[in-house]
Amino acid sequence: MNRKLLVAANWKMNGNLALVEQMAQMLNEVTINDNVEVVVSPSFPYLMTLGDKLKSDCIALSAQNVSEHEKGAYTGEISTDMLKECGVKYVILGHSERRSLYKETSTLVAHKVKAVLAAGLMPILCIGESENERASEQTETVLASQLQPVIDEVGIEAFNDIVVAYEPVWAIGTGKTASPEMAQETHQYIRGCIAQQNAEIADKLVILYGGSVNAGNSEELFAQADIDGGLIGGASLKVEEFKTICSTAKGSN
Ligand code: PEP
Repeated sequence: MNRKLLVAANWKMNGNLALVEQMAQMLNEVTINDNVEVVVSPSFPYLMTLGDKLKSDCIALSAQNVSEHEKGAYTGEISTDMLKECGVKYVILGHSERRSLYKETSTLVAHKVKAVLAAGLMPILCIGESENERASEQTETVLASQLQPVIDEVGIEAFNDIVVAYEPVWAIGTGKTASPEMAQETHQYIRGCIAQQNAEIADKLVILYGGSVNAGNSEELFAQADIDGGLIGGASLKVEEFKTICSTAKGSN
């Protein structure tokens, strides 16, 4: 299956207008292979400014979170319609930091996925196991338990419009990357979970790897059969390093 490859930057609560300017300049100049889409997720205040500066169709904007509610008395929240007006295409949901620091449950994540799809946006649904869960051989159970509430909420057909990001929690921001073989094996398991319900959708599903991806390991990770790009935190804040990751990414699956 010739799936597209996504290189998605997650700036988390980092960056400023200077980084927006430098990153936009780099992204407007860098050569990106056919079948590769670059996605940038700055904090909310920078979405429109960055979007206005980007000139290429193969670079898209993503938000890092959204409310599950359409509108109303939810002080401090951001709606899917607001994101659409900012030119956003993707929304990262269920990031491990949202799950652990802000107590987002898989049920809440599923509601957010539903809201994002209803608005015509694409969720980047993050799932991943902790270090203890991997050590105690619970990885597959944990991943299935994070996927199933979303399948129950939106149905398997909706996975035509969902990107999954496998992010082992122990590899996020730690410098510890899953080996390409370990990541591939887990991606294959995730694709298999979807295939049990619909083989065609599973075949088309874009599954990103996230967890200390950098310019030195991205090519080998992205070359794995079931790895369709990356969700990149720390390395996406460094303009030259992110440029290397973007320019070496090949959509060769
Ligand atoms: C992330 O924030 O999703 C992430 C994978 O971070 P890092 O690349 O820094 O591990």
